Amino acid sequence: MTGKSKRRTNRKSRRRDNRPVLIGAGAAAAAVLMLCLLAGGGKKLTVNTKEPVKEGPGISVLVGSGAASVPSIDSAASSFSVISEAVPSPASSVTPPPWHTPLERYFIDPDFWTGCPERNVQLLTPNDFSRPQTGIDEVNDIVVHYVDQPMSTAMQNRDYFESLKDGSRSASSHFIIDMSGEIVQCVPLGEVAYCSNHRNHDTISIECCHPDDTGEFTEETYHSCVDLCAWLCYAFEIGPEHVIRHYDVTEKECPIYYVKHPEAWEGMKRAIAKRYAEYEEQYGKRTKD
Ligand SMILES: [Zn+2]
Repeated sequence: MTGKSKRRTNRKSRRRDNRPVLIGAGAAAAAVLMLCLLAGGGKKLTVNTKEPVKEGPGISVLVGSGAASVPSIDSAASSFSVISEAVPSPASSVTPPPWHTPLERYFIDPDFWTGCPERNVQLLTPNDFSRPQTGIDEVNDIVVHYVDQPMSTAMQNRDYFESLKDGSRSASSHFIIDMSGEIVQCVPLGEVAYCSNHRNHDTISIECCHPDDTGEFTEETYHSCVDLCAWLCYAFEIGPEHVIRHYDVTEKECPIYYVKHPEAWEGMKRAIAKRYAEYEEQYGKRTKD
């Protein structure tokens, strides 16, 4: 992933894709040594949305805590020294912010979340650099990335995005998949993440952790990525062929293993198509309106 798209819309009115998942926790201040983090620790609830869930207004909140120092996620080349984080009280976060997303039509459908893989929602604090709360125009593709930081965890990468709120470079991703297969969500689906260059305004981004420099995903990451991609394609009524690599957007070598091994990428796409077919079989076909 890389910096923000120059295209930034300003459709704002009301947020829907925001669930109460985490009630914040400790503020944290951490000095920058590699891989130190989670100074504060949050109380996390895992959200399993296998049952239909309506993400409506009036339920929002969350705000992760902790601080991280994973200085480079897929091209993010900055470093930072001290991170501090104010954790708003839950009571101050229950009012939806005044913005609007064109994707709202999806989120008001209680069936939208049917079949969503289990995810750990740890939304970033709204800020100009990693969560600007810009409404996403449309979802036309799902973009797969790798974090380019071997052995870093999903939460370390998420906390790195959080730390950018005080900085000057922009980066974020809707999802990060841990080497354990855990899916961490950082940005609501209705909002732009700064991950896929000029496609930020019409794509959902998924960063994947990896154990070494080859960038190959663990089996757990691979399966979670397949599930998540298939579900997103199903939920947004686009076919499974709409899963692409960052490489397909900018020719950047990301996710590097699946750029250098195109047969592995084709294999993953076949797995996504198979999983998508299972969604259709289990929950019925969806047609685009
Ligand atoms: Zn990338």
